[in-house]
Parts: sequence; C-alpha cells; structure tokens
Amino acid sequence: MTETPLMPIDTAIDLILAQVTALPAEDVPLAAAAGRYLAEPVIAMLDLPPFTNASMDGYALRAADTPGLLRVVGESAAGAPFRGTVGPGEAATISTGAAMPEGADAVAPIEWIGATTTSANGMSVELPRPVHRDYAVRQAGSDVTYGTEVLAAGMRIGPAQIGAAASLGLGSLRCGGLPRVAALTTGSELRKPGERLAPGQIYNSNGPLLGAALASAGAEVTQIPHAADTREAHREAIEQALSNDVVISTGGVSVGEHDIVREIERELGVRELFWRVALRPGKPLSFGIRERTLVFGIPGNPVSVLVCFELFVRPALAALQSASQPRPAFMRGTLAAGVERNPERDEMIRVRHTSDGRIEPLRGQHSHQLAITAQAEGLARIPAGTGTLAAGDEVAYLPLGGAS
Ligand code: AMP
Ligand code: MG
Repeated sequence: MTETPLMPIDTAIDLILAQVTALPAEDVPLAAAAGRYLAEPVIAMLDLPPFTNASMDGYALRAADTPGLLRVVGESAAGAPFRGTVGPGEAATISTGAAMPEGADAVAPIEWIGATTTSANGMSVELPRPVHRDYAVRQAGSDVTYGTEVLAAGMRIGPAQIGAAASLGLGSLRCGGLPRVAALTTGSELRKPGERLAPGQIYNSNGPLLGAALASAGAEVTQIPHAADTREAHREAIEQALSNDVVISTGGVSVGEHDIVREIERELGVRELFWRVALRPGKPLSFGIRERTLVFGIPGNPVSVLVCFELFVRPALAALQSASQPRPAFMRGTLAAGVERNPERDEMIRVRHTSDGRIEPLRGQHSHQLAITAQAEGLARIPAGTGTLAAGDEVAYLPLGGAS
C-alpha cells in the first residue's frame, strides 16, 4: 500500500479554517454572553465615566484654597450630586463615585482633614496640607470617550468584556452563532460507564471527554448513539450526524479492517480533504466536508481525541462563532527536562508545571494513557526532528482545563 504523505499540523489547521463560514450572528443577553465571540465591534455611545467624579471619600474643593480653613457648603453623594457651586474658601463633602460639584477641582481625602469645627456659619474643615489640582478626581471620558471602539469584533467575551458592555449600558451583545455539533463514538469493544464489562471490553471514555470538550468550546452538542463496528451501524450514525454544522467521530479512521468511518462517510457524500497528519498522537485524523458540514474523523485513542480536539476542532468551532483568532492559543514554556524528538511527526506531549515554573513531561506518553493524562496541565509541542530538546529549551504549549 502506498502511503500518502503526512499533512503538517499547521497546513491541516489552514485547510480546516478555509472551510469555515461564520454562523449567523445573534443578540445574546449579557448574562449568557460569557464564552461567546463578538460578531460586531462595541462602540462607546457615551463617555466613561459619564461625569467627572471623586475617586476617594473626602471634600471637593478648589486646590488654590489649600492649605486652609474651608466652609462646608453641601454634600455630593453617589447618585445624589450637589446642585450648587463650590466657591472660594468652600468645600463640599463628597463620596467615592459622586459627581464633582461645579467650581471644585480637587478632592482632599477624609484622612487629610485636621480639625472640624462647627459654628453659627455651619461646619468648617481645616486642611493643613496642600491638595493638587485634580487630586482624587476621575475625569469624564478618562476610561473611554464617545465613539471609540471598546471591544473588537471577533473578541472572546469574558467577565471584563461583559462588565465593559454593561458600563456602556448595553443589555445584550451581538455574538457569533453557536455550532450544532454531532459527537459520535465507534467501536464494538466499548461500553457505557456504569455498565458491566464483558471480556475484551472497555469503557467509552471518548464520548464523555468529547462532550465536555465541546461544551467548553461553545458547541450545542448532540450525542449520536454509539456505533458498533458494522457498516449498518456506522451508516445510520453518520447519516444522522451529518445534519449538523460539525460532525466529530472517534475511532475507525486507521488502517484496520474494522476502520470503516472514512469509507462510509465517502458513501454518504463527504469529500475528504485530508487524512493523516504529521502528529503524535493523532496521526490518522481525517477531515472532510459535505456542503457546509465539517466532518472530523478522530482516531480512537483517548489522548489522540484530546490532542486533535485542541489542535483542530476547537479552532474550527471558534471560527464558526466568529473568533478573529481561532488558532490554537499556544503559550511559551521552558522545558525542565530533555525530550527526544520524533523524526517524522510533531509530538504533543503531556506536561505539568514544575515548582520553578518550567514544564516537565509526564511519565507515560502513550496515546491510550488517559489516566496519566488526567494529571496534565498542558500539551507541549515538540517539533519533529532529530536528537533531543534539552532542559532549558523553549517550547510552545497549550494549557488544558483541569489538573493542577
Ligand atoms: P480505533 O481508532 O478505532 O482503532 O481505536 C484505537 C484505540 O482506541 C483502541 O484501543 C480502541 O479500543 C480505543 N478507543 C476507541 N474508541 C474509544 C472510546 N470511545 N473510548 C475509549 N477508547 C476508545
Ligand atoms: Mg475502533
């Protein structure tokens, strides 16, 4: 059998992203927008802060009057501004966030006040030290001014973005639509967690693993009933899955006699764009399309599923949701121990942080070793090549949720 050349990881990502058309955008209430991607930029339709206000509790005054004795002429509280003017020799009590009264140009923090005296003229405060103009004052528009872009299209929405939108008075955000994803596991040896295992059987870990990964990537998941290794079962499962935006199967894409996923997909009209990637684990990955549906065939070993998901599926799901930076979000790390390179394939090895902030490979890097992988904090990319990477060398790694 002639072997097709292995597709480099980055070319595979390019090919996948080239097939993605962002899903139609929708308005999402702020409370439900975390984790989504902005389909449109957010432009400030007001200044923030909207009015000049105090950043500390104290007295609003004229800097030129300090040091000195100031007559207290009123109060500006948060939400209840002082309506009058602070004139020469005068001050107004002010609380954090309250509007600066007309005439005042600085705030003396309460801690700076010397004596407070009350006479027939009312209350006076003694300020023994000078206060600089603008001290403890937050100018209107010092965060953002009207008309400025606050959040860019394609940005991932987290707590700070939601807070920023709320501070602009927005109740919802225009977000990329969520992909409908069918998750499908194959293999006659697999049983559901909770069932009894017969000899030769193992539990289906890919189904739950994939479900969790998909949920974390914003997918609306349909779990297709597990398919045994028969043509009929595969056909039924894949046919059902193909009505979604994305199909992800696990198992059955390698070269064994029972690996029939690709063949059945072809029969059902899936056009394969690549098969086999220069990656360990995950080499037999296949990717194809049927109309707009993206079809991923991930090999069955659970660590391959985790790796292929992070490298190929998560980026595709992000791009479908309008992410401007859908590619895997690699970080840089320093190896705490040497790692042998693979001559043909980039390896994604399971790593943890050491106490000094470097990263070290876990012992047990085979693609079936999911229990060991459960200790991993990240996947480090070891580029294909000869020899070894040494302790102290920099590598790219993808943080994983969990562990630590
Ligand atoms: P395959 O890609 O179908 O040849 O499967 C490769 C290896 O992964 C085999 O050892 C399978 O038993 C195992 N495997 C396949 N699917 C699953 C699954 N859903 N959960 C756990 N292990 C699996
Ligand atoms: Mg199988």
